Amino acid sequence: MEPATATRSTTSDDIPDRTHFYVDGAWVAPLSTETIAVENPVTEEVLATVPAGTPADVDRAVAAARAAFPGWAATPPADRAAALGRLHAALAGRADEVARTVALELGTPYKIAMRVQAGLPLAVLESFVALAAAPPAEEVIGHSLVVREPVGVVGAITPWNYPLHQVVAKVAPALAAGCTVVLKPSELTPLTAYLLFDAVEAAGLPPGVVNLVTGTGPVVGEAIAAHPGVDLVSFTGSTATGRRIAHLAADRIARVALELGGKSANIILRDADLAKAVRTGVGNAYLNSGQTCTAWTRMLVQRDNYAEAVELAAEAAAGFRLGAPFESTTRLGPLASATQRERVAAHIARGLADGARLAAGGLDAAVPQTGHFVAPTVFADVDPGSALAQEEIFGPVLAIIPFDDDEEAVAIANNSRYGLAGAVWSGDPERALAVARRLRTGAVDINGAPFNPLAPFGGYKQSGIGRELGVHGLAEFQEIKAIQR
Ligand code: NAD
Repeated sequence: MEPATATRSTTSDDIPDRTHFYVDGAWVAPLSTETIAVENPVTEEVLATVPAGTPADVDRAVAAARAAFPGWAATPPADRAAALGRLHAALAGRADEVARTVALELGTPYKIAMRVQAGLPLAVLESFVALAAAPPAEEVIGHSLVVREPVGVVGAITPWNYPLHQVVAKVAPALAAGCTVVLKPSELTPLTAYLLFDAVEAAGLPPGVVNLVTGTGPVVGEAIAAHPGVDLVSFTGSTATGRRIAHLAADRIARVALELGGKSANIILRDADLAKAVRTGVGNAYLNSGQTCTAWTRMLVQRDNYAEAVELAAEAAAGFRLGAPFESTTRLGPLASATQRERVAAHIARGLADGARLAAGGLDAAVPQTGHFVAPTVFADVDPGSALAQEEIFGPVLAIIPFDDDEEAVAIANNSRYGLAGAVWSGDPERALAVARRLRTGAVDINGAPFNPLAPFGGYKQSGIGRELGVHGLAEFQEIKAIQR
């Protein structure tokens, strides 16, 4: 157990200050006394503090991960799978605590947090328990035996919008592949990551296999990305930071895996079930207050249905009640921080200045007085080249754009520097599939098909490099060796 600390009272729960890092299988004191205050974005009060790490703390964690690597890489797959199974059980026992902590440090409505912020990472971890059990695939190509080996020490740097999922999507496949890990979670939501390490301790994973250092991006994040002892930097977050990390890793030709931003298009063809497509599309755009990299933030509607779609979207938006995470009527929480709220507000103001038509929400709509809230907003008549249609806003802001035919829909959808996700709705599955094939994105959902945690997840273009989840996610953490015989 991490040494006990005082708790600070909040409106809804007590969260302890965290004072240690998890390194080499133990809670260790940081090398500096600096701390980071974690804010509750609903009350704007400090929820708890965590240590602000230094490059020296990173050195210690990387040394532990390096020392643990040969032993973990040589551990039989069945034993690694058993260890991940124990981690899954320990984390499953904390699911309610995870949902509560995400509700407090991010503001996600508790019910949604339970399903998405706790449920999804548990499903992903479970999938890697199964994948870890199978020995790495080997191929014979002519007289060559092609084998897969763990890539080494992984530096994992994660954002705040899905504080456990994005960590698990890196840690689980890395451990399954036989890699060891140093994690730096977002400084906005580090408390959820601490719960994972409580579970790591309870599961009795071997010392050094997975290590935690909290801190800021420019200090701890850069120290990880530039560290000569880190073989792969696996990052999720903004495209700007991804670019910086790729530069740092390039100096020593370290591998990088980047999951970055998106501006995904939801194409609603004339023969679609319009009401369902619009309702599902609005829900997708607003999931987690729009702070989702795959959010379908551009709704493309065939012109005959356009006016009706705008009305339906405005109606749907009005149903997203803003509020505190533990109130049962809340469907939409605040944004993660004051900075994020200001960014989103600036995008809304610019959208109006650029001539888009406000169909719902906006900056004058009523929102709770305290907390970083933005009203669910819908813009119609959005120019596909404007900032509203091109920039990742990361807030509850939907842009609706008309099109005339499939050709034009595909052209508008692909007119983006991003290429993460997308959707197509049509009564004709073949037509929908033909459009889906033409989208330059890493994923497309047809007619609201559900998320598949075993399917590869990642982006084309500036949405990233590499894939997470399932066998493709596992492959990110493996090197390939050809042995000629
Ligand atoms: P960010 O990219 O700044 O932060 C993500 C992680 O990177 C955090 O752990 C952060 O501490 C770390 N980091 C920051 N600067 C770093 C550096 N120089 N070197 C190494 N690590 C560094 O993202 P953010 O500030 O949390 O959010 C900003 C924007 O990023 C959002 O508005 C949104 O557009 C986008 N975003 C995208 C995703 C996604 O899933 N694609 C997630 C979060 C944020």
